[in-house]
Parts: sequence; C-alpha cells; structure tokens
Amino acid sequence: MIYRQPARSTTRGIRIRRSRIAALLLVVAAIAAALGYQSLRSSTAASPTDVPRSDHRGLHPQRATVFDDETPGVANLDSDLIGALREAATDAARDGVEFLVNSGWRSPEHQEQLLREAVSEYGSEEEAARWVATADTSPHVSGDAVDIGPSDATAWLSEHGAEYGLCQIYGNEPWHYELRPEAIDHACPPMYADPTHDPRMRE
Ligand SMILES: [Zn+2]
Repeated sequence: MIYRQPARSTTRGIRIRRSRIAALLLVVAAIAAALGYQSLRSSTAASPTDVPRSDHRGLHPQRATVFDDETPGVANLDSDLIGALREAATDAARDGVEFLVNSGWRSPEHQEQLLREAVSEYGSEEEAARWVATADTSPHVSGDAVDIGPSDATAWLSEHGAEYGLCQIYGNEPWHYELRPEAIDHACPPMYADPTHDPRMRE
C-alpha cells in the first residue's frame, strides 16, 4: 500500500506541471500575438513617413477626396478654394473623373520636413527651391494650394479649371492648383516656369 502513495502524487505532480506548461504556452502565444500585432501596427504607422518624399511630385499614397472633411489637409484649406474644388469635382465626376488630394494644407513643420528632404534628394537648396517652398512662403501652409491627382484629374482641371477659378500656377507642377477668381471671367494668369520665378517665394 505504501508504494502507491508516491505514484499518485507523481501523477498529480505531472498533471499540475502539464497544466502550468499549457498556461505558460498560452501566455507566450498571447505575447507573441501582441508583438506581432504591434510590429504590424508600427509598420503601418511608419508608412506616412514615406509620404513627404514623394509629396512634392504628386505621388502621395493618401486617398483623400476634396469632400473629406476629416482630413486636416483638406479641412484646413481656404474655404473659397475648397468650395471651388468641390464644385469642379462634382462636375468632373459626371465625366467619370475623381479628384484626389495628394497634398493640401500643410503644417509649417511638415513643410520644413519636406524642404529638408528635398534638399537631400536634389543635392542643393537651389534645386530643392524649384520644387518645395519654405514654411514662410508655401501657399500650402496658408491653405491656398492643393496638389491634385491622378493624371486624368489634372488633365480635366487644365481644360476646365479656369471656369471655377482653379489655375495651375507652375509649369513644372501640373498637379498644383490655386484659386484665381478672376480666371472665371478672364483666363488663368500665365504660369511661372517653376516656384523660383514666383515673386511670393522671394519674400
Ligand atoms: Zn503644391
């Protein structure tokens, strides 16, 4: 009889150890899942840092429309500009064309970041200035400019934009539009070849 006692307690001991291991495995699995989720989240969260690099060339991955009030880049645009854009976008939609806002209003910090990146990409401040303004001079920071895509939208705007007061300002930026209300009765003013020719950039 005596020899059975240790056997039982051993069996119980094994059962307890097994359930502990199972619990431990569950915890490990939960931690692994949480870590996996976090790394997924952080890789998703990291993608907006890619945005500024392509931003000034109109290759923004963002998919905001001109009707997207939740997006600060749209919501903080000048109200007359966004009004004209919405009118134009509504009419363009009848032609099967959708306007996407690749970049609209920008914070001064975002603009400075874009400029730093452009300087390193283009190799000099002079060359970067052909594409990216400073926070003090950029019409994006004041909410007066919008970069529209894709190319069928900019093609539509280059044909019809003036009817809404929407004008391309720079020859080298077919996506960059600003409001020129006088264009509705007359035509859009002549374009500057690039932003360095724009007197506003020399302030
Ligand atoms: Zn622009």
